[in-house]
Amino acid sequence: MKRIHLKTSLALVLALMVAVTALLVSIFSGIFINRQFEEYVKETQKQKADELADSIGSNFDEALGFNIDYVHGMGMYALKEGYIIRLYDKDLKLLWDAENHDMMLCHEVMDDILSRMKEKRPELKGDFVTHSYDLERGGNKYGVLEVSFYTPYYMNENEFHFIRALNIIIGIVGGVTIVIAAVLGVIIAGRITGPISGVISAMKKITDGDYNVSVNTNVKDLETYELARSINFAAGTLRKQEYLRKQLTADIAHELRTPVTNISSYMEMMIDDVMEPTKERLTGCYDELSRLSGLIKDLERLESAEIEDSTPVREVFDLYELCGRVLQGFKTAAEEKNIAVNIGGEETVISADKMRIGQVAANLLSNAVKYTDEGGKISIYVGKEKDTALMIVEDNGIGISNEEQDLVFERFYRTDKSRARKTGGAGIGLSISRAIVTAHGGTIHCESRPGAGCKFIVRLPI
Ligand code: ADP
Repeated sequence: MKRIHLKTSLALVLALMVAVTALLVSIFSGIFINRQFEEYVKETQKQKADELADSIGSNFDEALGFNIDYVHGMGMYALKEGYIIRLYDKDLKLLWDAENHDMMLCHEVMDDILSRMKEKRPELKGDFVTHSYDLERGGNKYGVLEVSFYTPYYMNENEFHFIRALNIIIGIVGGVTIVIAAVLGVIIAGRITGPISGVISAMKKITDGDYNVSVNTNVKDLETYELARSINFAAGTLRKQEYLRKQLTADIAHELRTPVTNISSYMEMMIDDVMEPTKERLTGCYDELSRLSGLIKDLERLESAEIEDSTPVREVFDLYELCGRVLQGFKTAAEEKNIAVNIGGEETVISADKMRIGQVAANLLSNAVKYTDEGGKISIYVGKEKDTALMIVEDNGIGISNEEQDLVFERFYRTDKSRARKTGGAGIGLSISRAIVTAHGGTIHCESRPGAGCKFIVRLPI
């Protein structure tokens, strides 16, 4: 299928709409104005004939009869205007007849009107029609005036000229409107589709794997603005995912390399009899293998947390009590580092997956112990906030920088690689915790200042 540009089709539609409207308005207003003008001419003609009868009639004198000089003057004036008059007395005796008086002029006028009207308004099929007026005063008839003129109406050169000029003006206005509509159509279509083209080229780049795109959001239309923002957001998310994916690969590779290299070099030397396979050496290999299997377990933990994401097995329990018990498990580790621990808050009964929520508390406490220096302190708080249960784990350890407070919830993300590796973490605990909390319809986030400690806040629907 041949596809055309949105800009072209929009411009065409807009221009076509205005063009059709302009055309219809021009045609109908033209027809209407022409009709009105013809009506006006017809009306004026009839009025003129009436006025002729009035003024000739009013000139009648009972004693002297008609003033023929006056009738003659009026008759000649009317003839030039296209009215042929004939005056009779009350006994229908002809007193004055334009045709008799100046037959040549009379025929000239009639022929002129007939030929002009035949040429310009052939559809009228008009002709000279005689209208008869009884001239009366006080109920007594004193004469009859016959006025013949071209019916239904006729127009002189000036009137035809006027109507032609009017039609030309209507045509020009219509034409100019169409041209303006076409230009405006192109401009408006360009304004609408311009940002969309930006979005399309950004999408093409994203499809090609280039996530460093940014669509201009400085646009007036709300929909286009939302579209541009969504693309920028999607590109940002993809950038972040890409970064994490690369980091994940690098991390796994790094994590695997050390134990595998150690084991294989030990093995090689033992096979080549360079080294005795002593118990100590075999234990060394075993320790390296344990590190490997620990890493594999971490990966499995993460996968199962994400798979079971949506199906927490709920039971009703007191979160305060659960946290107290989990905290007990960290007492020894905390004492070893001379870290003070305490729990505060109130009984908070919730319906949730007890084991998994316990796992979240354990992850947070384990991190707090890991990332808090000797002599520090850790506190845990459990309480209610409207329909939500709150669980806050706070420490005064190394803290997390602002930019990393969201990233720590991503898989394998560790703030300080070397230190975290020493502490044994693979950067999975928090992503598992987030998966669990999200599956419960809750939220988890971190507030921290580097050097001043961390506060992890978990909100769970009661
Ligand atoms: P890990 O197993 O490495 O602790 P987590 O997912 O639990 O993995 O945490 C990710 C990273 O977040 C850690 O490596 C650490 O850099 C940082 N982090 C987590 N908790 C804390 C904390 N309480 N104080 C400082 N940094 C923390």
